[in-house]
Amino acid sequence: MTECPACDAVVPALAFLQARAVDWTAGVPERTSRNRWRYPLCPACLAWLTSVVDGSALGSPAASVLAAPSTEGRLLRFLDQCNVCRSTLAPRTGAVVESLPAAGVPGPWRARLVCIPCEGWIANLAMDARSARGSTSRALDGEYGRTVHRRLSSLTFEVNAGSNDVTEALIDACASLGVLQAQGGAPSVRFVEAGRPAGTRARLRPGVVVQTVILAPYGAYEAVAAHLAAAAFEWVTLPFTPHLIAAVLSRLVEPLMVPLPRDKDSLLSVLQPVEPFPAAAYVRPALGVSAFDAAWLVRRFARGYDDLGVVSGRIVFVPRVPAHSFDAVIARLNRNLSGRATLVPLARQSPFERFEAAG
Ligand SMILES: [Zn+2]
Ligand SMILES: [Zn+2]
Repeated sequence: MTECPACDAVVPALAFLQARAVDWTAGVPERTSRNRWRYPLCPACLAWLTSVVDGSALGSPAASVLAAPSTEGRLLRFLDQCNVCRSTLAPRTGAVVESLPAAGVPGPWRARLVCIPCEGWIANLAMDARSARGSTSRALDGEYGRTVHRRLSSLTFEVNAGSNDVTEALIDACASLGVLQAQGGAPSVRFVEAGRPAGTRARLRPGVVVQTVILAPYGAYEAVAAHLAAAAFEWVTLPFTPHLIAAVLSRLVEPLMVPLPRDKDSLLSVLQPVEPFPAAAYVRPALGVSAFDAAWLVRRFARGYDDLGVVSGRIVFVPRVPAHSFDAVIARLNRNLSGRATLVPLARQSPFERFEAAG
């Protein structure tokens, strides 16, 4: 008997779901023995996870599952494409997610090659599927998992995305916040998928312009940097959660909002820490992972309200979390990051001074 992390039931595991790093020495992705993570799953959870991932891979993500990856109309043609979102894998990245029968019975899951963001998404569902299934707020995170947001219904938006899936997910996320699509006049915010034209910065009324929020796929550093140079307000990950959209819109209506300088590597804002310092961790990218990609992964799996920025040249993550949940949140995110980056907690008293001294 083992405990299934996806539903917390103590049941006989049907299978272990595991991810293995892939090797590209022969020019094609090949599974290796390097295990990235492994979770025992009960029959119900494995069947559920299989149907959710199959749905996304077939281009019909389950509407009930937040932030499911989308194929965005891409066709699956080559060996080096992610089998879920169909993006092309960068060399030496990606993993094969496969199931290992625990009781000699093969489960419904078939092995598939996935990109880094999709691997994190599957790991996230396997380690705690309850919030995705809507049965509870994420127990690991305590109060941290709840969504609260400012009144945003005065805002309107428009979207320029490469696929209907993205547009529809955004319409859903905004509708849940009372934010509707602009009809006719200029919107207050324009969501633009990285690399697509951002349109003109229309003036809404004296001193108020249409703000641009970039929807950034993993690895889209160049396009995001170009949008920020053209005065875009902020970037969020694509796929996004409604929580991430709520948080970016809340910051946009902040009356005292002043644009902060940007760090050119991570494309995050440069923060000025003020005492008392909150509990924080710094982000250490793994060898070969860029600062932007590490920041992207943390933003993808953190909550929208968490602060992620650069202090003294290093990426600092400040979860908006009750003190007693801090360690659990850092541990969960480190599992999501599965080695691509590591969150290292900083000493509470004076974290920023401390790591200035450390390097
Ligand atoms: Zn289960
Ligand atoms: Zn993918």
